[in-house]
Amino acid sequence: APPGSSETVRQVKLDKECELRVEVGPNFPLRLRMLSGTAEIFGTEIPPEIWLNFPPGLKFAVFTWHGATIEMDGTTETDYTADETPMISYVNVHAVLDARRNRAKASPSDSDASQGPRVIVVGPTDSGKSTLSRMLLSWAAKQGWKPTFVDLDIGQGTITIPGCIAATPIELPIDPVEGIPLDMPLVYFHGHVTPSANVELYKVLVKELAQVLERQFAGNVESRAAGMVVNTMGWIEGVGYELLLHAIDTFNATVVLVLGQEKLWSMLRDVLKSKANVDVVKLQKSGGVVSRNAKVRQKARGSRIREYFYGPANDLSPHSNVASFSDLSIYRIGGGPQAPRSALPVGAEPASDRLRVTPVSVNQDLHHLVLAVSFAKEPEEILSSNVAGFIWVTDINFESKKITYLAPSAGSLPGKYLIVGNLTWCE
Ligand code: ADP
Repeated sequence: APPGSSETVRQVKLDKECELRVEVGPNFPLRLRMLSGTAEIFGTEIPPEIWLNFPPGLKFAVFTWHGATIEMDGTTETDYTADETPMISYVNVHAVLDARRNRAKASPSDSDASQGPRVIVVGPTDSGKSTLSRMLLSWAAKQGWKPTFVDLDIGQGTITIPGCIAATPIELPIDPVEGIPLDMPLVYFHGHVTPSANVELYKVLVKELAQVLERQFAGNVESRAAGMVVNTMGWIEGVGYELLLHAIDTFNATVVLVLGQEKLWSMLRDVLKSKANVDVVKLQKSGGVVSRNAKVRQKARGSRIREYFYGPANDLSPHSNVASFSDLSIYRIGGGPQAPRSALPVGAEPASDRLRVTPVSVNQDLHHLVLAVSFAKEPEEILSSNVAGFIWVTDINFESKKITYLAPSAGSLPGKYLIVGNLTWCE
């Protein structure tokens, strides 16, 4: 039945510490409102009485600490009430972090003591890492802190499009529908949806991002005391595990939250034992976390990119621009033909190739690729520069030597140099 007809409107009464888990159906949005009580969606309180619109396919939970009555209008893929959730343990973590923030705030002139918690959330894919990060950030923001959110998961991208690592201060509880406002995040472009495509580059970008945040913290007591929450990717074996250790080390994490995997927790606890100031905490995965297969992930990536250009509610109007080949300076990092190992001196690693920045001439392969606009002033700066935004190549005309691309707005690009990886999108 179409939304709005009486048979699709229903009420759900939630007892205290229960949650309503919803997966919106694939074709229509869902309307939901809270009739009485109090409830939150991933750490953000929902307003009473007001209808909220959730897009098709969205998966979320309405949790109540004290009880609430919810009304839904529309079709869902699934919706059910759960009375077993790990929310108490999550909010206990929040309470500990909050106490540490208060302690940090109380000693602004001591460079060590003024640093609030640096939290990193790790665990396998679909263990609820992004969701827990979000709750911790929203709960902190609700109490007036402005914690920094760092997203290292280049496979999905919560702050900006996939293929990037990014950071942004969270000043208000995160909107359950709109997500994080895209003011001016600090973004580095990897250009691939898995770090394995260029591990060296991933490490360099993580380091760059961490250094910039370190400088920002040094000059801002408020954000220093609020600390950070770092979300990571679900790749936790082999090189993925090494990258987690690299991130823990690079951001000087003081709290490692391990979701849903005993083995990872015990491995991390053992390697981090020698660091007295690092707590490694094991947390239960929520039964509500929905597993997503490769196809669903691919689709989610596409809608993230679409959202960048068109807005979460189709409220932005991107602009189609035309440029001459000669106006664009496109570069690729690594990824060029790898020098055969036999051509290298004995014992040498070809790693430096992976960080080489090389110009790319316009070719058919650029069609439908998403390119990043670098803030670099010189090609030598591309590797260490963050990016202003993205363009999407929609047409290449080799006769007129013109390239057509979609950009968030008309006019000249905010930077001269473009970075290409293998991030594609089809509308
Ligand atoms: P990860 O970051 O570990 O890959 P996510 O936090 O992105 O996992 O969670 C996977 C999916 O499950 C997301 O779509 C999220 O909205 C959904 N989800 C998480 N927790 C719940 C819950 N308690 N109820 C319903 N859906 C949930």
